[in-house]
Amino acid sequence: MTESYVCPHCKHVEERTYRVRLIVLTCPNCGRNGRFLNGSLVARLDEIPETERPDDWGTMPLDARLQWAIEENVLDVSFTGPLSVE
Ligand SMILES: [Zn+2]
Repeated sequence: MTESYVCPHCKHVEERTYRVRLIVLTCPNCGRNGRFLNGSLVARLDEIPETERPDDWGTMPLDARLQWAIEENVLDVSFTGPLSVE
């Protein structure tokens, strides 16, 4: 089993064998360093209703969206808790 991690800038996906909320690396696709989000978190961010999103949502990188969601408490708390490394 591998986990998918999504580039916050270009949505390039990297696979890793461990499960954490995010990993920091330089994207082999767009060359930018960033916080790759766990794919399941990206899916959860997509479920946030448009009416609850900030105005600049469309231009926010994925990691900024995650940070916003945690600060605004719009993601399920149990899910945003630390995900253990297996
Ligand atoms: Zn990228």
